[in-house]
Amino acid sequence: MPSRKGSRREGDAFHQDLRPRRFRDYVGQTAVIEQLCISVSAARHRGEALDHVLLHGPPGLGKTTLAAVLAHELEVPIHTSAGPLIPRTGDMVALLNALEANEILFIDEIHRLAPAVAEVLYPAMEDHHLDIMVGEKLGAHTLRIELPPFTLIGATTRADLLTGPLRDRFPLVHQLEFYSPAEIGRVLTRAARVLAAPLKPEAAGEIAARSRGTPRVANNYLRRVRDFADVRGRGVLDRPAALKLFEIMDVDGEGLDPFDRRILESILDNFSGGPVGVANLAATLGMDTRTLEEVQEPYLIYRGFLRRTAKGRVITDRGRRHLGRERGATLFEP
Ligand code: ADP
Repeated sequence: MPSRKGSRREGDAFHQDLRPRRFRDYVGQTAVIEQLCISVSAARHRGEALDHVLLHGPPGLGKTTLAAVLAHELEVPIHTSAGPLIPRTGDMVALLNALEANEILFIDEIHRLAPAVAEVLYPAMEDHHLDIMVGEKLGAHTLRIELPPFTLIGATTRADLLTGPLRDRFPLVHQLEFYSPAEIGRVLTRAARVLAAPLKPEAAGEIAARSRGTPRVANNYLRRVRDFADVRGRGVLDRPAALKLFEIMDVDGEGLDPFDRRILESILDNFSGGPVGVANLAATLGMDTRTLEEVQEPYLIYRGFLRRTAKGRVITDRGRRHLGRERGATLFEP
């Protein structure tokens, strides 16, 4: 049974129940799954470790889930950690040293490893050994520790921040894409079945339309609609319950919440539509740059509300229209 890292996210227990375990239950990402199916079958056939895998894409798209699916399909244990949880080279050595043949080491947020810590991975990934410096001054020498073959699965929201040598050591690199509303509908139907929640198809459609192409968001909304239906309704997750909840939460038909709209409004009102540097924009909004870049922006860019340019962020015409602030439109002032 794969082991799991300590919970660092709200609602993690809920998500763990809903995580698909097998390729057949993993919705969408068809091209990625097809390629990984072949790699897994080949590794199993030869009794070898799967090649190292790098999964990248915005948060909540299923990178951690896919790592656990790979472990189940390969029938090997998975050890999980995350970049910020491995601060020293000694921590990385200990993690690698604990691996047995063909096991998986999953490192979430791998782009947040310190360079010296990431360097420990290079010989481990390539030739299955560790080079450790022991002794001091004239007595200092390198101790080589052999490792069994293993699979490193790295997950990142920022593949661009990985060093070249680290990225090059992953033979399998896969980008996860935002899901279509129909795929999110399937994620919701499956999750409702697991939770035994009476979700009506029309309600699933309304939730899917607002879930930002992201299974984690969809599952969170499903939970909120279920709470709402239990407390205020008849326990049935129907369209009126979903619509009422989204009205209360002020989530619009495109899935943008008040915070998303504040980002677009700020570019328009504080920076004349842009371009504005991301750090400047984040400071104006009172949020940290990383959250803005890695969590909020990707969907706004994907849907064409915002653009990244060499000079900074720019609101698009589509973004202006969404706010009801088309170019040339004057604000009515009484
Ligand atoms: P990431 O690691 O990319 O941030 P997770 O793997 O934690 O995302 O996924 C978030 C949640 O979305 C999980 O609880 C899982 O139940 C659900 N999920 C993700 N991908 C899928 C998928 N392809 N099919 C069904 N559910 C999914």
